[in-house]
Formats: sequence, C-alpha cells, structure tokens
Amino acid sequence: MKVTIVGAGIAGLATAWALRSRGHQVNVFDQGPIPNPMASSHDEQRYHRFAYGRMSGYSSLALEAGAAWKRVWEALNRDLYIETGVLYLSSKEDEDILRSVDFAEHNGLDTEQIPQQLLKTRYPHFSIAEDARAFLFRQSGILLAERILVSLADWLRESGAVLHPHAKVVSVDHHDGTIETLSGRFQADAIVIAAGPWTPSLVPGSEVLQPARQISLFATGPARLAEAWRRSPALADLTVSGNFYATPPLRGTRIKLVTDLPFYGNCPDDDRHVSKSEIEAVAALAAGSLADFKDYQIVGARSCYYTNTSDRSFFVRRIERSWAVSACSGHGFKFGALAGLAMADAVEGKMNEADTRTKLEARISAPE
Ligand SMILES: Cc1cc2nc3c(=O)[nH]c(=O)nc-3n(C[C@H](O)[C@H](O)[C@H](O)COP(=O)(O)OP(=O)(O)OC[C@H]3O[C@@H](n4cnc5c(N)ncnc54)[C@H](O)[C@@H]3O)c2cc1C
Repeated sequence: MKVTIVGAGIAGLATAWALRSRGHQVNVFDQGPIPNPMASSHDEQRYHRFAYGRMSGYSSLALEAGAAWKRVWEALNRDLYIETGVLYLSSKEDEDILRSVDFAEHNGLDTEQIPQQLLKTRYPHFSIAEDARAFLFRQSGILLAERILVSLADWLRESGAVLHPHAKVVSVDHHDGTIETLSGRFQADAIVIAAGPWTPSLVPGSEVLQPARQISLFATGPARLAEAWRRSPALADLTVSGNFYATPPLRGTRIKLVTDLPFYGNCPDDDRHVSKSEIEAVAALAAGSLADFKDYQIVGARSCYYTNTSDRSFFVRRIERSWAVSACSGHGFKFGALAGLAMADAVEGKMNEADTRTKLEARISAPE
C-alpha cells in the first residue's frame, strides 16, 4: 500500500516504522523540521512507567508498550530506554499507590517500599517529608525521546521511506486519500493523521482533543550530589499539590523538572517563550522536593503541549481512507511504539475502527 503520514512526532514516526517494516510505501509530512522541536514528542527524556493506580488500563497497556519498544530497539540496533526505576512518594491516605503495588505484584514486577530511615542515605538529593511513603518501582525508566525520534527518522530514510520536512498539510480529502501541501498534492491508499495538538485543525470531530501548555525546566545540581543523581531513579513526588517529577541526567541528558501544574495556553502555535513566572512556579515545587535546591542552576526551560481528552483516553477515528490517532494527555510517548503497530494493523485492515479503539482507547479509560 501507499500510505501518507501527517506528523513526524512519535505516533507518526512509529506508525511509519511499523508500515515500512511490512513493506509498504511510506511518505511522512511535517510542517517543521523532522523531528520538530515544537512537537509534543520532542524532549530529552520521557517517563515509561506503569503505576497508574485505579487506571489499571493504562498500567496494562504500559507493560505491553515495553514489548513494542523492544521491537523498535531491534530495528534500530540500539536500546534507547534506561531502566532507572521510578521512586514514588505518596501520602499515607493515597490508596492509588497501593493499587499500583498490587498491580505490580500480580504481574511479577519488582517494587520495594523503602523505610523512612533509609531514604536520606539512599537519596540524599531528594527532600522527603517524614510522613511520606516511598515505593520504588524498578521496571520503569526513561525513554531518550529526542534520540528515538532522530533514530526512527534515520531508519526510515535508510529503508526507503520518504520524509517531507517543512511541508505543512493544509487540507485532507478523506474520501480519495489526497493531502495538499503548499508544494503540491499527494494521493495514497490511506492517510494516518498523527498531528498531536494540531489534530483538531485537520480532523473533523476531533474537538474533544484539548491542547494544554506545559513547562519543563532543565537544571544542573551541586557537585556533591552528582553521584546521587548518577545512580538515581526518576522521581514522582505525589505528596505535593501539583505533583513534581524529576529525571536524572543520564547518557548526555540534563536533570529535568516537570509538574502537573496547569499553565495558561491552549494553542500550540502561540509564543513558546517561557515566562519568569512559569519558571518560578516549577522551581517552587522543585524547592520542596529536591534537597538544597538553592544550589541548583536552571540551565534551560521549554514549553510543550499535552493533548488532553476529558477521560484521558486515546483518540482514534477513521474517516473513509484516513485514520487519526492521538495519545492521551501527558502519557503518550511511552505508548508510541504500540500505537504505531496498532495503526499499521488498522491501515492493513487487520483491525477495524472499533477494535483499534478497544486496543488503544477503551483499555486505557477502563476505570479498574
Ligand atoms: C511536558 C511534557 C511531558 C510529558 N511527559 C511524558 C512522559 O513522561 N511520558 C509519556 O509517555 N508521555 C509524556 N508526554 C506526552 C507525550 O510526549 C505525547 O503524548 C506524545 O509525544 C504525542 O506524540 P504525537 O506524535 O501524537 O504528537 P507530536 O509529537 O506533537 O507530533 C505531531 C507532529 O505533527 C506535526 N504536524 C501538525 N500539524 C501538521 C500539519 N498540518 N502538517 C504537517 N505536520 C503537522 C507537528 O509539527 C508535529 O511534529 C509529555 C508531554 C509533555 C508536553
């Protein structure tokens, strides 16, 4: 088949990889460079974790996603995942974390509750409240996001797919499979639209997708904490209002600080400059969760867009020859390889729209 893919974020590139691996002719279009720094997928690191409490549909899918990534590493001939483990800090009232521990135990995964008296010695770089519970989930870690995008794009070029950077798709004819860019029209047997937070401009009925601005900071820590960071798990501090996440500086990446705080902005084409007050909001949470944060230096800041749905489910739609896919909220990178394989099955007719949704969407939104 001849397939057009709109969008070279993780969903588009992974779909292109899955289709090209099966011998299809693939053309990938992106409005910017490939990869595009404006894409939601473009960052140094993304978490791969499965502790989602009562949203156990996410947890199961995250486990399946690990197997899908292994197929990507085999194709790329390199492993771009680092199993750092994730340390969750939660309050004593938090039942969700216990559900995640149950899920892990049922699935033969390794978790450890770390007693208070050991926390300071093991994690001198974290500032942990005395009444917090700490659980280490070992089979979780960091996907080297930007390197994955670059490697997938290189793999695609080498294996005969055609990449079209700086080719904004301005219209889609879902009926005859034609897209139009400023430089011409391209016809294909099928179109996959993986345009992230820009999807509503191309896909009728996709208004349920709500782009939401988010901020990440990059930091360097004091030399005395370098060793602690080098062997550190990623952190998910759920004891603070707004939650706080920090990833260790491994394989050339920087310490990254992120929160779930809401930021003002719902249009991915808006100014991406990060304001002083946005930096201060993230840094204020970092100061509560990292020891001696006053000795850190903020060396970078970037804005990026989540693509939320109200129930955090995947968005999958078929319109005649087109398929649209968008991952849920702030969790979609880890599902990228799996979504790519599912979309390839859908395009090949191995899964219909309902099955594809069940695979990617319904299981995620399942309440238990
Ligand atoms: C701060 C932050 C932290 C996150 N953390 C995590 C995490 O730890 N773990 C995790 O799993 N997920 C995380 N996510 C979510 C994850 O990054 C996204 O769900 C995922 O990357 C979305 O990928 P995508 O391919 O659907 O969209 P994108 O990466 O946005 O790709 C869409 C592409 O389509 C292109 N495009 C759009 N319109 C057009 C057009 N008209 N013509 C041509 N091209 C077009 C864009 O230029 C872009 O390159 C995070 C997101 C953010 C913002």
